Amino acid sequence: MTSSPTTLSFTTLPHPAPVPAEARAEALVDPKFGTVFTDYMIMVDYDSDKGGWYQAQVLPRGPIALDPAASVLHYAQEIFEGMKAYRHPDGGIALFRPEENARRLNDSARRLAMPELPEALFLESLRQLLAVDRAWVPAAEGSSLYLRPFMFASEAFLGVRPARQYKFMVIACPVGAYFKSGHSAVKIWVSRDYVRAAPGGTGAAKTGGNYAASLVPQAEGIAHSCDQVVFLDAVERRWIEELGGMNLFFVFDDGTVITPPLGTILPGITRDSLMRLMRDEGLTVREEPYSIDQWRADAHSGRLVETMACGTAAVVTPVGTVVDPEGDFTIGSGGPGQLTEKLRGRLTGIQTGRHPDPHGWVVRV
Ligand SMILES: *Cc1c(COP(=O)(O)O)cnc(C)c1O
Repeated sequence: MTSSPTTLSFTTLPHPAPVPAEARAEALVDPKFGTVFTDYMIMVDYDSDKGGWYQAQVLPRGPIALDPAASVLHYAQEIFEGMKAYRHPDGGIALFRPEENARRLNDSARRLAMPELPEALFLESLRQLLAVDRAWVPAAEGSSLYLRPFMFASEAFLGVRPARQYKFMVIACPVGAYFKSGHSAVKIWVSRDYVRAAPGGTGAAKTGGNYAASLVPQAEGIAHSCDQVVFLDAVERRWIEELGGMNLFFVFDDGTVITPPLGTILPGITRDSLMRLMRDEGLTVREEPYSIDQWRADAHSGRLVETMACGTAAVVTPVGTVVDPEGDFTIGSGGPGQLTEKLRGRLTGIQTGRHPDPHGWVVRV
């Protein structure tokens, strides 16, 4: 389903009333995640009858017209990405491994029977948005401009088949720290009644439906005063998969680290990057199944010294306490662990241009 207009040029509709500089500066001080948006958005249109992707626009951010029969509203053909633009010390702006997001968007597209977006068009969309919204990239430590590329079926029809029309869009919002608790350890609820993904399902695709299905268990977790939910595998209800939106690492006292294998989990770019950084540190990282019972036993014995959750939004976050209907437990001292702190420093140092970038991950825009 690939269509490849390598030279789709963007037209920009100037904003009639962008947010004044003063109000923008105020909005950048301490933005809550996903609540403040920039002035512009990207919209790229696809129609299989027009030969694929045919129109690319930079528009003032605002509501979009959608036919009530648009198939995304009925059958949920929707995928998204999450990435950040960082302000470097010299005032420049950089993305972190953006080609990985482009690739993953297309992996998700194939699973949802949606058209692929040429990687160059994906990257150009980000560049175009950052060109007009440049002033929205905050400079304060721990802050960045969160970019949300997404694609959905816009064709108006109620038959069940892949749509013929789609929109790819990018919106952006300045963000500070993801969790209210900042860098302190999070409390995790073990979902025993609900699963996130099953073999053969859409667990590895970044699609809204996975999140819709996670909201009830997430609410259950919040009712037990937890920040996040950890999901177990759908078949044996035993193997740890991931959180609703973050991957997990288990750190042991002998310098080994385990992370659940790919398959039904989302292949996180943060997960992949941390594996490299840990191997750089001389740690042994294994991608293998790890069970909830083993997790509890290893936490009790002290063999497990840290558990970290990772993802673009929250970067690297320590898991302090696990609340489980079958028995709660605490990891280490219940606070941030040494490796978690060190890796957060290394990764954010690379992303924000304060540390060298040995793997060539940073792309200046
Ligand atoms: C996006 C996401 C992650 C993290 O991926 P990153 O590329 O590291 O941001 C992990 N799990 C789920 C379910 C996700 O949607």
